[in-house]
Amino acid sequence: MSLLIAFFVSSMVDKVSLSLSKTCAQWPGSLMVRHAHHTHYLLTCTSNRTTMLILALAIVIIVLIYFFNRKKKPVAQCDAPLLKQLLTQHIGFYNNLNDEDKSIFEQRIQTFLNDVRIEGVGLEIGDTDRIMVASSAVIPIFGFKDWTYRNVTNVLLYPDTFNDEFQFEGSESRNIMGMIGSGYMNGQMILSRNALVKGFSKNSGEENTGIHEFVHLLDKADGATDGIPESFLAHEYTEPWVRMMHQEIHKIETGHSDINPYAITNEAEFFAVVSEYFFEKPDQFQNKHPELYAMLSKIFGQDPAE
Ligand SMILES: [Zn+2]
Repeated sequence: MSLLIAFFVSSMVDKVSLSLSKTCAQWPGSLMVRHAHHTHYLLTCTSNRTTMLILALAIVIIVLIYFFNRKKKPVAQCDAPLLKQLLTQHIGFYNNLNDEDKSIFEQRIQTFLNDVRIEGVGLEIGDTDRIMVASSAVIPIFGFKDWTYRNVTNVLLYPDTFNDEFQFEGSESRNIMGMIGSGYMNGQMILSRNALVKGFSKNSGEENTGIHEFVHLLDKADGATDGIPESFLAHEYTEPWVRMMHQEIHKIETGHSDINPYAITNEAEFFAVVSEYFFEKPDQFQNKHPELYAMLSKIFGQDPAE
């Protein structure tokens, strides 16, 4: 089918070029347009030839858009071995899974890449970036068999940190590594690619910006980003969970906790920050925070320290 379209467009360009050379009596100048392996000389004659030229250019643009979109096809769809290779290379969580779960993980990465558009802003993104975004999404929901994100359609990757006006260069106060949109930005997520990559590097410690932002989306699934993921937490655990959050926030404030102090911002940030720790360093987290670990294990339906 795609070959047919390419052939059709290609022959259209040939025809238009041909008719241009036929109708032009004089050649005051020429414009060279490359299309695949052919080179056409489109004449820049006056009058109705201008219309023909615009038509030809439009066709060339359509061809370019076609090839550009074809290139952006999710990697998981067209190259399963590459997907496996990249996951093995970069995603620790995937490497800890058994073979059966590995192939489920791969399928869920594919589903995510099919559902959500990932784009670079001010940078060109590659397969590894897409795989890292998709893994950030799949890791927190891996315990829920049929869960798909209904509250995100686009993930934008910025080169580095940005400010609250989404500027990623020039400004002094760029310290945001990721955000999920609300209001007119609903369905959008922005991530700093630097922070995303750092989260999956071997020396990331307890932090993972990608996972952090997708945990906010899980939290938001019940309508409120408030640190209480009601869709995943049985009602009777709500109160113990809130108490646990406040106790730990107090410990962080008084310097008696190793949890990233950003967690004291509010309950939503607390939930996202401890979730990063839970997935990044599960053994250490279980050791130092057994109660929090048990609760997060219930919330996510996973036991990564196993
Ligand atoms: Zn956050």
